Amino acid sequence: MTINAYAALEPAKPLEAFQYDEGALGAFDADIAITHCGVCHSDLHLADGDWGVDGRFPMVPGHEITGTVTAVGDAADPDLVGKRVGIGWQRGSCLSCEWCVSGNENLCDSSVATCVGNYGGFAERVVLDSRFVHVIPDALSSENAAPLLCAGITVFSPLLRYADSMSHVGVMGIGGLGHLAVQFAAKMGCEVTAFSGSPAKEDEAKELGAHHFVNGRDDDAMKKARNSVDVLIATAPANIDWRPYVRAVRKMGVLCFVGIPSDPISVTMRDIGANKAIAGSVIGGRHEMRQMLDFSAQHDVVAWTEAMPMDNVNTALSRLRENDVRYRFVLEK
Ligand code: NAP
Ligand code: ZN
Repeated sequence: MTINAYAALEPAKPLEAFQYDEGALGAFDADIAITHCGVCHSDLHLADGDWGVDGRFPMVPGHEITGTVTAVGDAADPDLVGKRVGIGWQRGSCLSCEWCVSGNENLCDSSVATCVGNYGGFAERVVLDSRFVHVIPDALSSENAAPLLCAGITVFSPLLRYADSMSHVGVMGIGGLGHLAVQFAAKMGCEVTAFSGSPAKEDEAKELGAHHFVNGRDDDAMKKARNSVDVLIATAPANIDWRPYVRAVRKMGVLCFVGIPSDPISVTMRDIGANKAIAGSVIGGRHEMRQMLDFSAQHDVVAWTEAMPMDNVNTALSRLRENDVRYRFVLEK
């Protein structure tokens, strides 16, 4: 079977039409006809070579996939055929280590990424392990569900871990991840502050559910925000001076990084000494993915999307690079 896709042939170059051959379906595989694929900043990091280039090109990015299962292998659940499904960053794991059996497949040492070392979702089809395919609840449209599969789970997981309805949650960076974090936290009953370098996003951040808006580039505003939030989810894709954000976290609070700057993050003991925690978090396990999709369906968490035909993938990537998106591009068939 030949699959038509869009690939980066080398780092930081426009993607080009690309074809590859997929072999016979493996026992647990599902063959999925893709209808939508979100454009995550991780796709941009990958295509730009920010996280390394060795053996990764040609690369077909795309890991916020929705589509319909058209066939499954002998050992896969036959009821999946015809279902509307989604796939996020992860397409496989060992399924037997302590992390996998405790529902933390995202932490497995043998985790397999959807579009690193494999061809991803900027394509008409994808074939991958059916056990990492998630059925999309009827209440969610395929376009709006796509960003939940990476951006959504990545912020939902640390909110489940660190926040409850009495928490004051800060979200730093109101982009693909951040606009969903604001919605999840607000709908979990938290008080929410959006920290953004884009003052023009204030009204929309409030529409998404933020109670407060702080311009992260305004030193006075950041001073006023000191000791304000219990949990701060940092989504920025680049390294900045994190000290004002560490100071925005209350004593015993946590600053959780989900954004992935390529260089080391620096904080001072003086700023974290009051029993503050610095944490990281990557995507989420399969159980959390189901919880997140159900929560979104039940509480009307909707990704704000700008759909465009898959042919326009390079426009989406260059506008994402310029922070010119409200709040997720979704490529459609
Ligand atoms: P995005 O849509 O581009 O949003 C990032 C937001 O961060 C921007 O909208 C902007 O918000 C802010 N920002 C952008 N450039 C900045 C800079 N130079 N300094 C400070 N703030 C900046 O990106 P995304 O798709 O949400 O992804 C964000 C990061 O999360 C990326 O690094 C991505 O690789 C990573 N990620 C991690 C995981 C994980 O499992 N941990 C999963 C998915 C993505 P304002 O305009 O509000 O300032
Ligand atoms: Zn992603």
